[in-house]
Amino acid sequence: MKWLPYAPVFWILALGAGALAALSPDSRILGLVAMAGFGIAALAGWFETNRQIERAQEEKAALESEIESLESQVVRHRDALDDLAEGIDASIFLLDPALKILYFNSQADEFFRIGDREGEPLGSVTLSNELAELAETVVQTGKPQEREVALHHPRQRIVQARCWAEEYGEDRLFLKLRDVTELRHLETVRRDFVANVSHELRTPMTTIRAMAETLEEPDCDEDLQKKYLDRIIREVDRLTRITDDLLTLSIAESGTVQRTKCDFAEIVGTVAQQLEKKAAAKGLAMETERPKSLSLFANETQLAQIAFNLIDNAINYTVEGKVTVHLADVGGQAVLTVSDSGLGISSEHLNRIFERFYRVDKGRSRASGGTGLGLAIVKHLAELHGGTVKVESLLNRGSTFSVLLPLPKGDTHPPL
Ligand code: ADP
Repeated sequence: MKWLPYAPVFWILALGAGALAALSPDSRILGLVAMAGFGIAALAGWFETNRQIERAQEEKAALESEIESLESQVVRHRDALDDLAEGIDASIFLLDPALKILYFNSQADEFFRIGDREGEPLGSVTLSNELAELAETVVQTGKPQEREVALHHPRQRIVQARCWAEEYGEDRLFLKLRDVTELRHLETVRRDFVANVSHELRTPMTTIRAMAETLEEPDCDEDLQKKYLDRIIREVDRLTRITDDLLTLSIAESGTVQRTKCDFAEIVGTVAQQLEKKAAAKGLAMETERPKSLSLFANETQLAQIAFNLIDNAINYTVEGKVTVHLADVGGQAVLTVSDSGLGISSEHLNRIFERFYRVDKGRSRASGGTGLGLAIVKHLAELHGGTVKVESLLNRGSTFSVLLPLPKGDTHPPL
């Protein structure tokens, strides 16, 4: 109502009319009527003012609760984004156009040990010019950029970096780094493995072909024929050993094992007995110490393979002295130890001998019929059974290989 602001004036007028009625008996009636009229108008104005104040207070309260709900929505969205950024298997950065870090997720923190250096330039935190250049290109072109980058700080890693600009808003940049070091390593290992297998197979095959060609010649004498045929048989045997070992290795690496209750002591005894002749032929003494029985829930063939490879190696790489095979239950683990007084292995080779096709002395390994896969098989089979392999060796003094396999607790079998 338009006259509302005049309510105080009506109060004054009502008071004036009241005073007039009191002071002038002639104008008493007029004064009283005027006082009543102005009083009613002033009261109406007072009530209306109160109503308006109440309405404004209600509107203010409604606005405040709307702001509160909007604020809590923003917080919820931010928390959801944080959770999302934490859940992504990558380092995430939010950068301003000057490439200063505005935000990073915990993986980025772990990766670069950023700590409280939020606000610092990307280049000084990652110490990578390549990453800074990538982000700079996005700032200049506005186009997303992607590149594989080798990082040297805080450790050597390879990351797949992707950087893109915020579509709406303040020209901020997102940078995502996915660690592909392991993937690239596996690719290299696989490439090397294929190259090694090809090489290992090609050598005997080339020999076989060359000899077969000589045998084809009409003037090839009988002695030579016999010599070459023997050699061909040896090379074919070698090819068979390589393919057999590759198959065993691939089964070991597949991670599945069929177990039954078996007696490891008996298995070791049988394998040692099989190889005793070979040791004796080299003039080596062989000692076997084992309990009467040692039950394991395992794959019998694979346990025999572990024992065979270790004892066979001990004989192959020992010129004189003895080979000792020892099996015992040590604190809930079956521990098979094969020691020899042989060539030994120098420390620079020691941590590589379990790699596929790694040999300290290629010639000696081939001469003894080795494929370079024996120890890789031992390691994988032991791990497949939840165990580990250890080696201690001194050059020209001998080696001790140990395989530790968990024994079942009580009568219960370990999980398959
Ligand atoms: P290989 O078929 O060549 O014997 P392995 O994987 O069994 O392949 O062993 C890898 C290499 O480790 C061997 O070539 C050899 O140089 C070394 N090695 C293994 N066992 C012994 C041992 N008992 N004494 C000395 N060297 C060993």
